[in-house]
Amino acid sequence: MTLVRVAPPLAQDVDLSKTYDAVIVGSGAAGGMAAHVLTTRGLKVLMLEAGKKLPIEQELRSMQWPYDHPRRGDAPPGYHSLSFNEYTIRTPPYAKNSTFKHVMSYVGGWGGSDYDFKGKTHDGYGDDWPIAYADLEPYYDKVDLYLGISGVKENLPHLPDSLFQRPNKLTFGEVKLRESLKKMGRVVTPYRAGVTTDGVKHNRYRSKCYGRGACDRRPGGCDIHAAFDSPTGLIYPAMDTGNLTIRTNSIAHEVLVDSNTGKARGIAFIDSATHKSYEAKAKVVIVAASTLESARLLLLSRSSQHPNGIGNSSGTTSAST
Ligand SMILES: Cc1cc2nc3c(=O)[nH]c(=O)nc-3n(C[C@H](O)[C@H](O)[C@H](O)COP(=O)(O)OP(=O)(O)OC[C@H]3O[C@@H](n4cnc5c(N)ncnc54)[C@H](O)[C@@H]3O)c2cc1C
Ligand code: SF4
Repeated sequence: MTLVRVAPPLAQDVDLSKTYDAVIVGSGAAGGMAAHVLTTRGLKVLMLEAGKKLPIEQELRSMQWPYDHPRRGDAPPGYHSLSFNEYTIRTPPYAKNSTFKHVMSYVGGWGGSDYDFKGKTHDGYGDDWPIAYADLEPYYDKVDLYLGISGVKENLPHLPDSLFQRPNKLTFGEVKLRESLKKMGRVVTPYRAGVTTDGVKHNRYRSKCYGRGACDRRPGGCDIHAAFDSPTGLIYPAMDTGNLTIRTNSIAHEVLVDSNTGKARGIAFIDSATHKSYEAKAKVVIVAASTLESARLLLLSRSSQHPNGIGNSSGTTSAST
């Protein structure tokens, strides 16, 4: 079996003297999608990423045999990833008094149906969002087609369908379980995943899934990028347009605003290697530094027009982000 590896595109030189059409803070899923959308429409974009540049070709080792890994894929001694069940038998804060030096949280959950968006109407708890699933659906459809999502349509109101590619097959036992539970009105469905099983012809950096079940193998990540990752799924194609410039080691600490209009005009950042301060100029600033960091960046961006930080006139920026 051939492992498809296409070299990353050549990087553009950063020019901090020019005003970019947009500057994006963060190169994750949100920043990558913003870069893809803007650069394919011809905008000149600068992306600032706090982290260092990683050679992802060396970082991702899903082709590695378990016995080639010193711990057969397990984390180093002293590290522990909490399982879902531990949250039901332990009391918070979960890492306190742990025998492990490093404790990682469990991240899970499904969302994105009107059971979430219209929770108050549904069960009386929380507040209804001002948008419904139908408002987001056209955008989800675009993302599904661009990235490739595998799964089976089930018409479940609490788990809306995507425009799916072929699902990974259920095993014989799983098929039996699906058939048995169907009689009880319950649904067993293959895991819905951001994995392209049919391939995405518009992206030369990604291959279709080999179905090796190696997604969970640590150190994580898919060598052939069948499983979505922001660099190959979004950022390399954006670089191919010739419109994306990336600066790594760049920690944004303030959204700069025009003193006359109060509108964003750029980003102040520090180089994590040299500790020197810089400014990047842009007509539009996109904050995509993850939920908490984005809120922190907005709160740090105080000026006479925004004395409590940007977007915080109500004092609830961190809560609403
Ligand atoms: C362990 C784990 C497993 C997950 N599994 C799944 C899954 O299977 N399916 C799924 O759909 N979702 C999954 N998620 C959730 C998903 O990864 C996140 O929702 C998504 O990555 C959020 O994207 P983002 O762009 O908002 O933030 P991120 O991907 O976190 O990107 C933010 C980027 O901004 C950079 N940054 C932060 N601060 C600054 C700054 N001041 N200046 C410059 N750059 C900055 C960061 O270095 C980072 O690169 C998982 C999350 C975790 C933690
Ligand atoms: S997405 Fe497919 S090819 Fe990639 S690691 Fe998972 S099983 Fe393997």
